Amino acid sequence: MSNIAASIITIGDELLIGQTIDTNSAWIAMRLNEQGIDLLRRVAVGDERNAIVNALNEELTGASLVIITGGLGPTADDITKPLLRDYFGGTMRPDERVLAHVQSIFAKRNRPVLERNLKQAEVPDSCTVLFNRLGTAPGMWFEKDEKVIIALPGVPFEMAGIMTEEVLPRLKERFKSDAIVHYSVITAGEGESFIAEKIQDLEEALPAHIKLAYLPGAGAVKLRLTGKGSDEAKLNEEIQVHQLAIATRLEDIVISLHDVPMEQILYNWFTAHGQTLGLAESCTGGYIAHHITQIAGASSYFKGSMVCYSEESKQHILGVNKATIDENGVVSEATVTEMARGLLKTLDVDYALAITGLLGPATPADREATGTVWMAVAGKGKVSSKKFLFHYDRHRNKEVAVSMAMLMIYKFVTQGEYPWKP
Ligand code: AMP
Ligand code: MG
Repeated sequence: MSNIAASIITIGDELLIGQTIDTNSAWIAMRLNEQGIDLLRRVAVGDERNAIVNALNEELTGASLVIITGGLGPTADDITKPLLRDYFGGTMRPDERVLAHVQSIFAKRNRPVLERNLKQAEVPDSCTVLFNRLGTAPGMWFEKDEKVIIALPGVPFEMAGIMTEEVLPRLKERFKSDAIVHYSVITAGEGESFIAEKIQDLEEALPAHIKLAYLPGAGAVKLRLTGKGSDEAKLNEEIQVHQLAIATRLEDIVISLHDVPMEQILYNWFTAHGQTLGLAESCTGGYIAHHITQIAGASSYFKGSMVCYSEESKQHILGVNKATIDENGVVSEATVTEMARGLLKTLDVDYALAITGLLGPATPADREATGTVWMAVAGKGKVSSKKFLFHYDRHRNKEVAVSMAMLMIYKFVTQGEYPWKP
């Protein structure tokens, strides 16, 4: 079975000037991938006739499926619909179902239906209408020379609704393709070059239909195995053997075999072990807590974060000695250790992480120290501290500090065990 290739064309001046981030094509690409449809290209063009026609011509030379989003609205800058009528031939016709739907939407909102809204119920007679339950602009399905061209509105939730309800089931019918499956090995603490060296022979032994990708992020490298084949069950079995071989080789730097965020991994460990966690956040201002509370049910293990930004709050809430700060500085091993130990008592938790640092931007007085962050984890009579030096801007330093903090908690609580092992 050979796989078909698809292209996505997103339309809109706002995409070209960066005002709107093109999330549509990423979302569509994921859905197509799940159905085993390979992507040839993603293209963005402005609301300009020639640019759209050229993009269509270009993509139709290589792809057998082209999905377009944008430019279907009721205003003058939305030119996709008449353009497609001209491109595929025919004339406009009113669609009864869409017309009734548009009228009911306006009736519900108690708004008069304008002429331009009625126009939204008109479609080229060369297309099959893809009903838009969530909005007024219908999607359209065209066919030409064995190829399929689909046009969808730009509003992301309307696009997604039509894709899910109308497009994906039809594509499944029409294009029978190989299954594509993904498996991950999430690592932390080593760079991708180190990992590549370590698993070189395993990587070379992968069969042609299983590919390995290295996806580095803040503090972690995700290894993603992608397999393609006609027998999905057999493929799953086969690829899991490779996944486990890689994970076993990398043993102590593996943190998960599932592609989930660190906050989920922490949630899983703490709830499985019945332990509690608290945070004392200075430079991250509660941002670690924000991540941890992204997981529903986090309250079952996470007791809270004390955002102690000033020296006084570190003393009053966490019980840090004034002398410790005076002698060592507020960004120091001694201070962060007292913060972590203090929080164990303040919040009565099994484990506590404390963080204090200088995220920047640098001033003449602290140029050397900018980017310095101290973290400490305390619990079960032990404490472990670590100094980091981050080199990015304030925002990125904070992001990386949060990743490192969650990783540090994980390493501390799992010392010597490999929870990812089945
Ligand atoms: P349109 O169908 O071109 O009238 O688009 C309607 C609205 O959808 C625009 O104002 C954008 O905010 C949004 N939009 C359009 N294209 C995209 C895209 N590719 N990704 C995310 N949002 C989009
Ligand atoms: Mg537009």
